[in-house]
Amino acid sequence: MCGIIGYTGTKQAAPVLLGGLKRLEYRGYDSSGIATVKDGKILTAKAKGKIAILDEKISGGTKLGGTVGIGHTRWATHGVPNEANAHPHRSADGRFAVVHNGIIENFFDIKSELTALGYAFASDTDTETVAMLLQHLYRGDGDVLSTICALQKRLCGSYAIGIVCADTPDVLYAVRKDNPLVVGLGNGENFIASDVTAALEHTHDFVLLGDGETARITPDHAEFFDADGKPVKKQTTHIDWDIGSAEKSGYAHFMLKEIFDQPKALTDTLRPRIHGDKIVLDDIDFDSKYLDSLSAVDIVGCGSAYHAGIVGKHFIEKHCKIRVNCSLASEYIYSDPITGGDVLTVIISQSGETADTLAALRLAKSRGSRTIAVVNVVESAIAREADGVLYTHAGPEIAVATTKGYTTQVAALYLIGLKIAERKRTVSDVKYKSLIRELLALSDKVRSQLSDENIAAVKKYADRFSSHKCVFFIGRGTDYAASLEGALKLKEISYIHAEAYAAGELKHGTISLIENGTVTLALVTQSALYPKMENNIKAVKSREGTILAVSSPDNVKIAVHTDGLLTIPECDDDVSPVLTAVVLQLFAYYIALGRGCDIDQPRNLAKSVTVE
Ligand code: GLU
Repeated sequence: MCGIIGYTGTKQAAPVLLGGLKRLEYRGYDSSGIATVKDGKILTAKAKGKIAILDEKISGGTKLGGTVGIGHTRWATHGVPNEANAHPHRSADGRFAVVHNGIIENFFDIKSELTALGYAFASDTDTETVAMLLQHLYRGDGDVLSTICALQKRLCGSYAIGIVCADTPDVLYAVRKDNPLVVGLGNGENFIASDVTAALEHTHDFVLLGDGETARITPDHAEFFDADGKPVKKQTTHIDWDIGSAEKSGYAHFMLKEIFDQPKALTDTLRPRIHGDKIVLDDIDFDSKYLDSLSAVDIVGCGSAYHAGIVGKHFIEKHCKIRVNCSLASEYIYSDPITGGDVLTVIISQSGETADTLAALRLAKSRGSRTIAVVNVVESAIAREADGVLYTHAGPEIAVATTKGYTTQVAALYLIGLKIAERKRTVSDVKYKSLIRELLALSDKVRSQLSDENIAAVKKYADRFSSHKCVFFIGRGTDYAASLEGALKLKEISYIHAEAYAAGELKHGTISLIENGTVTLALVTQSALYPKMENNIKAVKSREGTILAVSSPDNVKIAVHTDGLLTIPECDDDVSPVLTAVVLQLFAYYIALGRGCDIDQPRNLAKSVTVE
């Protein structure tokens, strides 16, 4: 959720920390702050609102001395976004400062206990209890490591924590459980970060802190310890994302850049797994005997990942002849799911850290189901814990509203589906090869959708509808799955109320909301369902609704019943959701632009949702 960055080196820490925070702002952005250690004292600066306000307050960091420090950009869970609740939080004696991502579930008990002992709290956050508890547990002898071990034994919940202590002036500490934290290894300087993008400008070498592990970091050294304080050996991972891919590269917004990244992201996700006319998934070894023993596939995700899962469900059921359930992770984990060795569980998360999805993965595993993760961020918690992983090679996704993250998840599910179908022999050789050709062609088709002419066509309708208060999305089959994602994209970034309905459901209630001018976006890419969609569209038109259709070239005849038409490139009906998604992403983007919304950082949202 929030962003953490820490630095220890020879440079002034605050400007480096500010730079890192700016790269993390997409993770949480209601307030921010920095703490540094200088002359045996902890200095802090905090501000409500965007990082730019903090930046101005401390003149780009120059006003805060010290060569070690921690920074934080917050996505509030406990206490309103204001300066008092912004991190870093200090202990009452000013010796410790902490930044925290996650939730301390037993904070209330700890706070009550410490308040009774005379500790005076200055914020409403759960995080401040960590700073106070550190003071309480510390023996004043410079042994911060043992203090952190004792701290861990008291904390319940999920956390990634960065710590500085006035008594150990060039040391940075980090500890985590169920929330991501990496240690970046530089030359005479080292970093901690909740996300590699924050330190990518300085290093490509990272150590991924494990659950329950603590790091003690000086400018020249990083040491790692388990929860009992015993040293552990850690491997360094080289992350070859270049910093340019984490920047806007001249686009007005990350979201637009990431929409344009999709041809490459799709190629990078699909191409390495297609050898000639065969799909090769190195990390996922399905044998036919195992697949034949399966009674079902469960797909689990949140938000857009769940929508990708619904596309995957259609595809896998159709081609693999196996029952597929797609569940929202937050529902799955409390539903006592019927799963076990005869169920394959596919877990989808762009960040690989989504708390609900991680809990679903653990639950499925604990019940004996084999798990496969579809994840973008290398070595993230979900990637590490799943039995197999299929990485989407989308590159860093910064905009909160996912675009390339989603389309590459759909692409990955096609690969998984086709692999299962091949092994189960449920797809003919001809169909298998033709679908592989379709997958390989996707990238160029998306590129063609991003031509000036196509963008102008989408923009024309976006401008026309940007002042509407409500938009319905309808479709059948995979078009319904694509509608769900289209509606989510629109509401996330434009704040227009948008709802997706299975087109056949309209008549069971929703049609009562259609009146003169109500905008309905109808997806008409499935040839077999064309006549049914035509009926649904006519029903909306006869209530004086306004229809914008998105159709395949085969279905353009729908135009006579609509007020506008956008087309996707010709493709097999099975893969149309990728191409429809591009149109709907652009539609949402230009509507949000017309309404003057904060496209990359929509209100109340955060990129990586690491709390349940
Ligand atoms: N629970 C902490 C707070 O509300 C941290 C939230 C975050 O992850 O940004 O301050």
